[in-house]
Amino acid sequence: MVVKPKIRGFICTTAHPEGCKRIVKEQIDYVKQKGKIDGPKKVLVIGASMGYGLASRISAAYGCGASTIGVIFDKQGADARTASAGWYNTAAFEEFAHADGLYAKTINGDAFSSQIKDEVIALIKKDLGKVDMIVYSLAAPRRSTSDGTVYSSVLKTTGGEFTNKSIDMKTDTVEQVTIPPATEEEIFATIKVMGGEDWKEWIGALKSAGVVEDGTVTVAYSYIGPELTHPIYKDGSIGRAKDHLAATAKEITSSIDGVTAYVSVNKALVTQSSSAIPVVPLYISILYKVMKEMGLHEGCIEQMQRMFAEKLYGGQVQTDENGLLRLDDWEMRPDVQEKVSEIWNRISTENLSECTDLEGYRKDFSRLFGFEAEGVDYETDVDTAVGIESII
Ligand code: NAD
Repeated sequence: MVVKPKIRGFICTTAHPEGCKRIVKEQIDYVKQKGKIDGPKKVLVIGASMGYGLASRISAAYGCGASTIGVIFDKQGADARTASAGWYNTAAFEEFAHADGLYAKTINGDAFSSQIKDEVIALIKKDLGKVDMIVYSLAAPRRSTSDGTVYSSVLKTTGGEFTNKSIDMKTDTVEQVTIPPATEEEIFATIKVMGGEDWKEWIGALKSAGVVEDGTVTVAYSYIGPELTHPIYKDGSIGRAKDHLAATAKEITSSIDGVTAYVSVNKALVTQSSSAIPVVPLYISILYKVMKEMGLHEGCIEQMQRMFAEKLYGGQVQTDENGLLRLDDWEMRPDVQEKVSEIWNRISTENLSECTDLEGYRKDFSRLFGFEAEGVDYETDVDTAVGIESII
């Protein structure tokens, strides 16, 4: 069928197989061109189909020559329905990896469940023996625990109401949004979903099963951002979950022998999950404009290639005084933030296109679903029922 974008609020309900493939290839080419990294050789990536997780998998495979097992939660397509973008990304990644002689297998299912943990352990035992790196890159709206409880995360403040500027992408207008405070119950649920509990369960399960090499590194991702987003992010319900994630890194390192856990604080980028956060898309549109003008802009693949090559496997591990890897180092540069804040103070519907990189934001959003890729004919019929070569 001919596939066109169908955008509903913060998501696009269609995805383009050829476009996703092309964009995965661009990421692979970027990593290849940056050269070899003396890094891990057997890598498990949990949340491997989109955004930072996909970029981590590509960096491990094509930078370090690693065998990779990916855990994804995606939908296969059929003749009249497209698959999710993560499905097409994974199909493309595996196809390229296999053609290049790299081991790559994928397990599709709920990473929070013990069934998927058991399946991953069995696969590692059968094919790799052990892993030497585990990337935890889930961004999920909810989590079901083994007792059947479903926890839903919220994007709210933890203090009082917070009012600030936001962008309405449907009408290209700058509006004021008011974000209510989360209840204690909502904060608890957000920590359950986006905090470190499941990360620790994964590492504990892998370690108990004897499938973790001594000297294994595990990394999970976080965000801090500038003061203007603190009420909704760093000091909001999601920030409380990220505090829990950081505390969990310390717990994993001290309680699980042979494993060192890091939290990497990454740059704010357009992904499926960040587009749902109020205030943040307007901030990202301004940030893109400033960082592109200063020649400092990076996407997920540039960030993750740099994390592997410089922060984790460039010799000494590079952390800040709190033990965090800082991939937001360029975003948080005072000269960048001064410019962003100056624009933030005067941004309005009237000067939106001149003061932000809204076009870049929109393009990146479309590209999440395989649209606006170079060299793809979007008027041609494509096979939407593409399979993943080694899916379990
Ligand atoms: P994303 O939406 O692009 O990717 C999330 C991935 O998790 C997808 O592959 C999705 O399929 C997978 N996933 C979700 N639920 C799952 C489940 N139950 N089982 C298996 N897989 C599941 O998100 P992202 O922006 O790349 O976020 C990844 C991490 O990076 C998150 O911890 C996020 O907070 C963090 N981060 C994001 C940004 C940003 O600006 N996007 C910045 C800093 C840190």
